[in-house]
Amino acid sequence: MTDKEQMSLFDITPSEIPLVELPHAEGAAEAPPAKKTSRSSKNISPAISNTVPVSEQFASLDALREVACNCQKCPLAPTRTNVVVERGDRNAKIMIIGEAPGEQEDLSGLPFVGKSGQLLDKILESVGFDIAKDVYVCNTVKCRPPNNRVPTPVETNTCKPYLLEQIRLIDPKIILLTGATSLKSILAEKLAITKVRGQWYEWEGRLVMPIFHPSYLLRNQSREQGSPKWLTWQDVKAIKAKYLELMGADSVVGDDEEF
Ligand code: URA
Repeated sequence: MTDKEQMSLFDITPSEIPLVELPHAEGAAEAPPAKKTSRSSKNISPAISNTVPVSEQFASLDALREVACNCQKCPLAPTRTNVVVERGDRNAKIMIIGEAPGEQEDLSGLPFVGKSGQLLDKILESVGFDIAKDVYVCNTVKCRPPNNRVPTPVETNTCKPYLLEQIRLIDPKIILLTGATSLKSILAEKLAITKVRGQWYEWEGRLVMPIFHPSYLLRNQSREQGSPKWLTWQDVKAIKAKYLELMGADSVVGDDEEF
C-alpha cells in the first residue's frame, strides 16, 4: 500500500463530520500498582503518575461491568440510556481510552461506534490491526455527558476506579490515550495533547502514547505533512512497530510495504 493509499483510509466525507468539542477534562490521583514490563526502546519518557482514591477491586471484567451498569455515583447516571463499558477483545494487548460516550454510543452501549469510532477503526486498520482482536476500547467516563459536553472533574474522578480496574484486568502492554480528557485522566493534568502526542510514556509499567482524538481529525481534513492526520499516521505506524516489537514479531512496518 502506498503512502497515498494509506492516508486515504483516513478520509471521511465532510457531511459525516460531527460538531464535537475537543475533550479537556481534569485528571485524578494515585493509581494502583501494576506489573513492570520490559522496554527495549529509546525515546520513552519516564512515568508521570496521576492518582485516584483507592477503590474496590473486581474479580473479573464481568463483575466490573455489572457494577458499572448499575452505577448511580455521578450526575451522568440519570440522563444516560446505556452505560458504555467496552468493546473489542478482552485479551488484546492494546487498550484505547477515549473521552466519553456520544449519542450513538449511549444508544448502542458500545464505545466509539459513531463517526469518531469509524475513523478510529480506519486508522487502526490502515496499519493492519484487526479491530476485533487486537484492541480493547473504552472511555474515561462510561456515561454520556448531556449534549456531548466534556466530562467534569467530578465525573472523571468518580468513574476513574472503573477505568483503572479495566486496565488492571485487561493488562494491556500498550495504552493509547485519545485526546486531552484521557491524557489528563491517566498521565497528568498539565500536558497538552498537541505537545505530547506521538510520545511514548512509561506509566505503571505499561507503554502509553497520547494521540489526537479522532473527532479532532474529522475537523481537520488536511493530509499535508505536519497536519494532524499526517501526524496521526506517523503515530499509528510507530504504534504498530512497537506492538510488533513487544509481540516479538519479525514484520517490518514500511510505508510502501504490507501496511
Ligand atoms: N468519543 C469518545 O471519546 N468516545 C466514544 O466512545 C465516542 C466518541
